[in-house]
Amino acid sequence: MAMNPKNFVQSATIAIEDITLQTALERGTSNADGRRRQVMAELDDPYALRMQGRHAKLRALHDLPDLLEQMERNVIANGGHVLWAADAAEARQHILNICRKHDLKRGVKSKSMVTEEIELLPALEAAGIRMVETDLGEYIVQLADDHPSHIVMPVMHRTKDEVRELFMEKIAMPYHEEASEMTAHARKTLREEFLNADFGMSGGNFMIAETGTVVIVTNEGNGRLSTGMPPVHIAVVGIEKIIPTWEDFATLIQLLPRSATGQRLTVYVNMFNGPARIDEPDGPQEFYLVLVDNGRSDVYASEYVEALACIRCGACLNACPVYQTVGGHSYGSVYSGPIGAIVTPAMWGKERASPLPFASSLCGACKEACPVEINIPDMLIALRRDLAKTQGPVWELGMKAWRFGNAHPLLFEMGGKFASKVTHAYMQSTGADKLDTLPPPLNGWTEHRDFPPFAEQSFHDWWRQNREDK
Ligand code: SF4
Repeated sequence: MAMNPKNFVQSATIAIEDITLQTALERGTSNADGRRRQVMAELDDPYALRMQGRHAKLRALHDLPDLLEQMERNVIANGGHVLWAADAAEARQHILNICRKHDLKRGVKSKSMVTEEIELLPALEAAGIRMVETDLGEYIVQLADDHPSHIVMPVMHRTKDEVRELFMEKIAMPYHEEASEMTAHARKTLREEFLNADFGMSGGNFMIAETGTVVIVTNEGNGRLSTGMPPVHIAVVGIEKIIPTWEDFATLIQLLPRSATGQRLTVYVNMFNGPARIDEPDGPQEFYLVLVDNGRSDVYASEYVEALACIRCGACLNACPVYQTVGGHSYGSVYSGPIGAIVTPAMWGKERASPLPFASSLCGACKEACPVEINIPDMLIALRRDLAKTQGPVWELGMKAWRFGNAHPLLFEMGGKFASKVTHAYMQSTGADKLDTLPPPLNGWTEHRDFPPFAEQSFHDWWRQNREDK
């Protein structure tokens, strides 16, 4: 089924029946969530650190335009180039122009969700430019002609057996039992790509305005090899990744690995200030930073601005009972899970992603897991409110009547009695012990849920009969 947020219900229905997917999700989310809880609990005061991280991001958002300009000035002063992209098409065009200018034909790329978002790889392929993903998870996704299903662990939806089969088919791997042997084979294959690449690409976990530095955090050496070996480095980063100072980075780097992979620190933290300087033997000769908006300014100007504080750790996905059950592909968007259910409609149009804000039980596990305390449940409710306004006058009238009935005790009681009589009369006439389907226009409720009959005696009546005089 095509990746489309509108298909959420159909995709989720298929995902729930997929036993292999359920096994992969159960293992992946519970491991990641368990490790996160463990390492966060090691901190003296996890809540204080989360608040510090939250305020660092909120301050950055407050000064976003100024910080971006400061970043631009510093990257240029360091010898790099900065390109601004209002949307995905402009970002792709900038990158294609760079490739033409330097005659770039072969690239290697470390993990970046923004390049997924702007659908870069098909555009490069159409222009005859070969680009190889070098993050192991993204490499698997590319070999399988698939999409990432998680913002940190792109192949959370695949089991080891599936990856083995894929490697044997696509990169001539002999049978290996152990994941470490499979990884070693992929690493050897990718080594050739690094050596032959004429440009490298990366995203950016943070941009530090005061020095014009892009930072990526990884667990594989691929980030360093993709950005340091080829003669040209292009970093593609969403504008919300800016933070003012290294002091803020010192706070956030304690939160990101802990929340994402349950590590105190990732294996690599790579920082780029621009091209290699004259006295530096290694590094690219050219450095480009593409700053991507693509709907972020709209979010910035809306009541959902807090969603831009997200550091893309994926903790809310791992903690979410809906994500745990349906997986990332069901959301039909690069950004899945609770935060995806906000940024997808907020960035690209509420109507285009209308089922996503409803894909939540509002249990609050996402907010509790979030290292920067983003109030995801409240934003989901606000999006539902906005979407309800687009349902038309009949829906609005129905909701008003419902609210009126619930706010007036006499009407509420009479309504309950009426519903009890009707449901019990219906069940008596059909001999059923529950209501499998409600009549239109209420039948949408029973498409995916049971509808137990109303109690024959309401609690109010019972109280009057048994307790009132006591
Ligand atoms: S919303 Fe919070 S928990 Fe979810 S990915 Fe963003 S920072 Fe992580």
